[in-house]
Amino acid sequence: MTHAVFSPAADHIPASPTRPGRVVPEPVDAERVADLVVQLLSALGEDPGREGLVDTPARVASWWRTFLSPDPSAATTCFTETQLSGQLVVVGGMSVWSLCEHHLLPMNLDVAAGYVADGNVVGLSKFGRIAQRHAGRLQVQERFTRQVADEICGVIGGQDVAVAVRGTHLCMSMRGVRMEAARTTTLQATGRLQTDPALSRQFLTLATAQWRVA
Ligand SMILES: [Zn+2]
Repeated sequence: MTHAVFSPAADHIPASPTRPGRVVPEPVDAERVADLVVQLLSALGEDPGREGLVDTPARVASWWRTFLSPDPSAATTCFTETQLSGQLVVVGGMSVWSLCEHHLLPMNLDVAAGYVADGNVVGLSKFGRIAQRHAGRLQVQERFTRQVADEICGVIGGQDVAVAVRGTHLCMSMRGVRMEAARTTTLQATGRLQTDPALSRQFLTLATAQWRVA
């Protein structure tokens, strides 16, 4: 497993031309999206003007805008703890929704993230925000897992990071092979969490403790 240099500006979201370094979401043309939903409904043989569908295009457009807008408060906080050295920190049970870019169908991602704290600790709620932000786009689970790990590496300024993700993909459950119980597990580990077997085992034990057996 490899580690890429953390670079949020180069990764999906362009930096604002007026405020260098600040990331801004891509604008979603809600009006155009609503128009396209009207066309989609027509192409599906529906009457977009009937009672139940009349507000659907605007609702769908509004959802897309929300889904694709990263949380602007997602800047990550680090706290200095000089006494801390070598402690494994694992945050699990983070459940986020994303969209499979191959089928535009939802995937639920159960995320556990861990790192070795050495002199500083990351505000715990920030892990959830990092996961949410990378989930809020068209994704594949493998890339999501790497992106979350890369961002945490950047935040802690080190490599001792692991991210485990268990995904439930509607593209497997409600189409194709229709295997409702199928779960996809991905793991991105770098630094000591990749090379130290004991640390790696401890991470996996803690990370998967909350995953119910389906
Ligand atoms: Zn899919």
